[in-house]
Amino acid sequence: MINQRIGRVLHLVVTRCSRVSAAQGMMCGMSEGGFPGAGLAKGLAVTLKTMTRRSHTQQYPDVAPDLPPRSRGVIALLEENCTVCMLCSRECPDWCIYIDSHKEEVVVPGAARPRQRNVLDRFAIDFSLCMYCGICIEACPFDALYWTPEFEYAEYDIRDLLHEKEHLGAWMPTVPPPPVHDPRGEPAKEEQAAAKKAATS
Ligand code: SF4
Ligand code: SF4
Repeated sequence: MINQRIGRVLHLVVTRCSRVSAAQGMMCGMSEGGFPGAGLAKGLAVTLKTMTRRSHTQQYPDVAPDLPPRSRGVIALLEENCTVCMLCSRECPDWCIYIDSHKEEVVVPGAARPRQRNVLDRFAIDFSLCMYCGICIEACPFDALYWTPEFEYAEYDIRDLLHEKEHLGAWMPTVPPPPVHDPRGEPAKEEQAAAKKAATS
Protein backbone atom coordinates (compact mmCIF):
# COMPACT_ATOMS: atom_id res chain seq x y z
CA MET A 1 0.00 0.00 0.00
CA ILE A 2 2.77 2.42 1.05
CA ASN A 3 4.76 1.41 -2.02
CA GLN A 4 1.78 2.16 -4.24
CA ARG A 5 1.40 5.69 -2.76
CA ILE A 6 5.12 6.42 -3.14
CA GLY A 7 4.88 5.24 -6.75
CA ARG A 8 1.95 7.56 -7.46
CA VAL A 9 3.74 10.57 -5.89
CA LEU A 10 6.91 9.84 -7.89
CA HIS A 11 4.85 9.57 -11.11
CA LEU A 12 3.21 12.99 -10.40
CA VAL A 13 6.58 14.65 -9.70
CA VAL A 14 8.14 13.24 -12.88
CA THR A 15 5.17 14.33 -15.05
CA ARG A 16 5.18 17.91 -13.61
CA CYS A 17 8.94 18.24 -14.05
CA SER A 18 8.82 17.12 -17.66
CA ARG A 19 6.01 19.63 -18.43
CA VAL A 20 7.88 22.51 -16.74
CA SER A 21 11.11 21.73 -18.59
CA ALA A 22 9.26 21.53 -21.93
CA ALA A 23 7.67 24.95 -21.27
CA GLN A 24 10.99 26.46 -20.26
CA GLY A 25 12.61 25.02 -23.38
CA MET A 26 9.94 26.60 -25.59
CA MET A 27 10.35 29.96 -23.81
CA CYS A 28 14.07 30.06 -24.42
CA GLY A 29 13.78 29.08 -28.07
CA MET A 30 13.96 25.27 -27.86
CA SER A 31 11.31 23.32 -29.66
CA GLU A 32 10.30 19.99 -28.17
CA GLY A 33 12.92 17.54 -29.26
CA GLY A 34 14.72 20.30 -31.27
CA PHE A 35 18.08 22.06 -30.86
CA PRO A 36 18.66 25.22 -28.78
CA GLY A 37 17.65 28.36 -30.69
CA ALA A 38 15.33 26.53 -33.10
CA GLY A 39 12.41 28.80 -32.13
CA LEU A 40 14.55 31.90 -32.68
CA ALA A 41 15.67 30.68 -36.10
CA LYS A 42 12.06 29.91 -37.04
CA GLY A 43 10.98 33.42 -35.98
CA LEU A 44 13.81 35.04 -37.96
CA ALA A 45 12.89 33.00 -41.02
CA VAL A 46 9.32 34.37 -40.84
CA THR A 47 10.70 37.92 -40.44
CA LEU A 48 13.00 37.54 -43.47
CA LYS A 49 10.19 36.08 -45.57
CA THR A 50 7.92 39.02 -44.69
CA MET A 51 10.69 41.57 -45.34
CA THR A 52 11.15 40.43 -48.92
CA ARG A 53 7.41 40.62 -49.69
CA ARG A 54 6.10 43.70 -51.54
CA SER A 55 4.22 46.02 -49.19
CA HIS A 56 0.62 46.99 -50.00
CA THR A 57 0.38 50.14 -47.86
CA GLN A 58 -2.04 52.71 -49.27
CA GLN A 59 -0.69 56.24 -48.81
CA TYR A 60 -3.99 57.72 -47.60
CA PRO A 61 -4.70 60.69 -47.34
CA ASP A 62 -2.10 61.62 -49.99
CA VAL A 63 -3.53 59.02 -52.35
CA ALA A 64 -7.27 58.37 -52.35
CA PRO A 65 -8.14 54.70 -51.90
CA ASP A 66 -9.60 52.90 -54.89
CA LEU A 67 -12.82 51.72 -53.28
CA PRO A 68 -15.27 49.33 -54.92
CA PRO A 69 -18.36 51.15 -56.26
CA ARG A 70 -20.64 49.31 -53.83
CA SER A 71 -18.75 50.55 -50.76
CA ARG A 72 -20.97 51.74 -47.92
CA GLY A 73 -19.66 55.19 -47.21
CA VAL A 74 -22.62 57.48 -46.66
CA ILE A 75 -26.32 57.52 -47.58
CA ALA A 76 -27.59 60.01 -50.18
CA LEU A 77 -31.21 61.16 -50.46
CA LEU A 78 -33.00 61.93 -53.72
CA GLU A 79 -35.66 64.15 -52.20
CA GLU A 80 -37.91 64.28 -55.29
CA ASN A 81 -38.43 60.50 -55.08
CA CYS A 82 -39.39 60.47 -51.39
CA THR A 83 -43.14 60.07 -50.83
CA VAL A 84 -42.84 60.17 -47.01
CA CYS A 85 -44.07 56.59 -46.76
CA MET A 86 -41.95 56.21 -43.58
CA LEU A 87 -40.89 52.66 -44.47
CA CYS A 88 -37.17 53.40 -44.10
CA SER A 89 -37.69 55.01 -40.72
CA ARG A 90 -39.80 52.11 -39.46
CA GLU A 91 -37.38 49.46 -40.69
CA CYS A 92 -34.22 51.14 -39.38
CA PRO A 93 -32.96 48.95 -36.50
CA ASP A 94 -31.20 51.90 -34.87
CA TRP A 95 -34.09 54.36 -35.13
CA CYS A 96 -31.73 56.95 -36.53
CA ILE A 97 -33.89 58.26 -39.39
CA TYR A 98 -36.05 61.27 -38.48
CA ILE A 99 -38.85 62.31 -40.83
CA ASP A 100 -41.35 65.18 -40.53
CA SER A 101 -43.98 66.04 -43.09
CA HIS A 102 -47.30 67.76 -43.63
CA LYS A 103 -50.19 67.18 -46.00
CA GLU A 104 -51.05 69.53 -48.81
CA GLU A 105 -54.14 69.72 -51.02
CA VAL A 106 -53.63 69.54 -54.75
CA VAL A 107 -56.51 70.62 -57.02
CA VAL A 108 -56.71 68.31 -60.00
CA PRO A 109 -58.71 69.73 -62.92
CA GLY A 110 -61.77 67.58 -63.56
CA ALA A 111 -61.54 65.69 -60.25
CA ALA A 112 -64.50 65.74 -57.88
CA ARG A 113 -62.36 66.48 -54.83
CA PRO A 114 -58.91 67.96 -54.26
CA ARG A 115 -56.20 65.35 -53.74
CA GLN A 116 -53.81 65.23 -50.80
CA ARG A 117 -50.10 64.73 -50.99
CA ASN A 118 -47.34 64.47 -48.41
CA VAL A 119 -44.73 67.19 -48.33
CA LEU A 120 -41.37 66.34 -46.79
CA ASP A 121 -40.35 68.88 -44.14
CA ARG A 122 -37.49 67.05 -42.55
CA PHE A 123 -35.43 63.98 -43.41
CA ALA A 124 -32.35 63.39 -41.31
CA ILE A 125 -30.03 60.46 -40.64
CA ASP A 126 -27.89 60.37 -37.52
CA PHE A 127 -24.65 58.75 -38.67
CA SER A 128 -23.40 58.57 -35.09
CA LEU A 129 -26.07 55.88 -34.54
CA CYS A 130 -26.24 54.34 -38.01
CA MET A 131 -24.69 50.88 -38.31
CA TYR A 132 -24.54 50.95 -42.13
CA CYS A 133 -26.75 47.89 -42.51
CA GLY A 134 -28.42 49.28 -45.64
CA ILE A 135 -31.91 48.15 -44.60
CA CYS A 136 -33.37 51.64 -45.23
CA ILE A 137 -32.04 51.58 -48.82
CA GLU A 138 -33.41 48.10 -49.41
CA ALA A 139 -36.77 49.02 -47.87
CA CYS A 140 -37.34 52.23 -49.86
CA PRO A 141 -39.83 51.38 -52.61
CA PHE A 142 -39.25 54.64 -54.50
CA ASP A 143 -35.45 54.64 -54.99
CA ALA A 144 -34.97 57.71 -52.84
CA LEU A 145 -31.95 56.42 -50.88
CA TYR A 146 -28.57 55.39 -52.26
CA TRP A 147 -25.17 54.32 -51.00
CA THR A 148 -22.20 56.42 -52.01
CA PRO A 149 -18.58 55.40 -51.36
CA GLU A 150 -17.75 58.82 -49.82
CA PHE A 151 -16.43 58.33 -46.31
CA GLU A 152 -14.63 61.57 -45.43
CA TYR A 153 -17.22 63.15 -43.19
CA ALA A 154 -15.70 62.71 -39.76
CA GLU A 155 -16.57 65.53 -37.35
CA TYR A 156 -15.04 66.91 -34.17
CA ASP A 157 -18.52 67.28 -32.68
CA ILE A 158 -20.65 64.11 -32.70
CA ARG A 159 -23.81 66.23 -33.14
CA ASP A 160 -22.58 67.24 -36.58
CA LEU A 161 -23.02 63.65 -37.75
CA LEU A 162 -26.75 64.32 -37.92
CA HIS A 163 -27.18 64.98 -41.65
CA GLU A 164 -30.34 66.87 -42.61
CA LYS A 165 -31.98 66.46 -46.02
CA GLU A 166 -29.94 69.22 -47.67
CA HIS A 167 -26.74 67.52 -46.54
CA LEU A 168 -28.01 64.08 -47.61
CA GLY A 169 -29.07 65.52 -50.96
CA ALA A 170 -25.61 67.01 -51.50
CA TRP A 171 -24.19 63.45 -51.57
CA MET A 172 -26.27 62.54 -54.65
CA PRO A 173 -23.65 63.56 -57.27
CA THR A 174 -21.25 61.06 -55.66
CA VAL A 175 -23.60 58.08 -56.18
CA PRO A 176 -21.91 55.72 -58.67
CA PRO A 177 -23.88 54.82 -61.82
CA PRO A 178 -25.77 51.52 -61.66
CA PRO A 179 -23.90 48.49 -63.00
CA VAL A 180 -24.49 47.70 -66.65
CA HIS A 181 -27.24 45.22 -67.35
CA ASP A 182 -26.04 41.67 -67.91
CA PRO A 183 -26.59 41.09 -71.67
CA ARG A 184 -27.43 37.46 -70.97
CA GLY A 185 -29.77 38.33 -68.09
CA GLU A 186 -33.56 38.72 -68.20
CA PRO A 187 -34.75 42.06 -69.62
CA ALA A 188 -36.14 44.51 -67.07
CA LYS A 189 -39.87 44.31 -66.29
CA GLU A 190 -40.39 47.76 -67.80
CA GLU A 191 -38.72 46.66 -71.05
CA GLN A 192 -40.87 43.51 -71.14
CA ALA A 193 -44.03 45.56 -70.60
CA ALA A 194 -43.04 48.07 -73.29
CA ALA A 195 -42.26 45.27 -75.76
CA LYS A 196 -45.63 43.61 -75.00
CA LYS A 197 -47.48 46.90 -75.49
CA ALA A 198 -45.65 47.58 -78.75
CA ALA A 199 -46.51 44.07 -80.01
CA THR A 200 -50.25 44.43 -79.29
CA SER A 201 -50.64 47.95 -80.77
S1 SF4 B 1 -28.10 51.94 -42.82
FE1 SF4 B 1 -29.26 50.78 -41.28
S2 SF4 B 1 -28.86 51.80 -39.35
FE2 SF4 B 1 -28.21 53.22 -40.97
S3 SF4 B 1 -30.00 54.52 -41.31
FE3 SF4 B 1 -30.18 52.82 -42.75
S4 SF4 B 1 -31.42 51.27 -41.69
FE4 SF4 B 1 -30.70 52.74 -40.16
S1 SF4 C 1 -38.78 54.63 -47.67
FE1 SF4 C 1 -38.08 55.99 -49.31
S2 SF4 C 1 -39.92 57.07 -49.96
FE2 SF4 C 1 -40.38 56.18 -47.97
S3 SF4 C 1 -39.87 57.80 -46.49
FE3 SF4 C 1 -38.04 56.55 -46.72
S4 SF4 C 1 -36.84 57.56 -48.31
FE4 SF4 C 1 -38.91 58.38 -48.44
